Amino acid sequence: MGKYIGSSCRLCRREGEKLFLKGTRCTTHRCAVDRREYAPGMHGSNRRAKLSNYGLQLREKQKLKRIYGLYERQFRNYFAEASRRKGVTGDTLLQYLERRLDNVIYRLGFCTSRRQARQLVGHGFVHVNDHCVNIPSYLIKPNDEIFMKFKKKGKQTVDDNIKASKDRAIPGWLEVDHTHYKAKIKRLPGRDDVGFPVNEQLVVELYSR
Ligand code: SF4
Repeated sequence: MGKYIGSSCRLCRREGEKLFLKGTRCTTHRCAVDRREYAPGMHGSNRRAKLSNYGLQLREKQKLKRIYGLYERQFRNYFAEASRRKGVTGDTLLQYLERRLDNVIYRLGFCTSRRQARQLVGHGFVHVNDHCVNIPSYLIKPNDEIFMKFKKKGKQTVDDNIKASKDRAIPGWLEVDHTHYKAKIKRLPGRDDVGFPVNEQLVVELYSR
């Protein structure tokens, strides 16, 4: 599958809001959304067009996809899985996204962005229940135990990340012990545990057209 190598900040500017894709930079004055409050591209600085209903649905889907760093096919698979399950499809979709191992590592404060967390998982630093798991899309379950295992490198980076993320609240469904680099999943995440504003209903409407 291809990899997006363009600018992350461009994605935020397209959505017109901070998606927090670049770690510590996002909370500084260097954030591109703060510096250039208009869409990217040649006509970006023109007035933003009023979006149709479809446009609103599309933007919300793109936003969610970009926050979790997913491609269309992966995202659609989560939606298909969520719509097969009992319960509210939008809530289940968000739950799937939150349960991804790369997201969990980010939410635990071991990384400053989901992209960085994906890298850490891919490099084999993350163990779940005593097994090395290097698949960022791995879905965690209640009572799973996570710990970071370092090789020659990595520890200093994670220490720096923990320090940089100290103001970010750890969600209630996770329990973390930063001193020993370990964590536990207390329960599955609920709708209220999603840490940013999103209207998932628009995404459901888009895919149900
Ligand atoms: Fe988005 Fe972060 Fe770039 Fe700001 S610094 S535009 S929040 S990725």
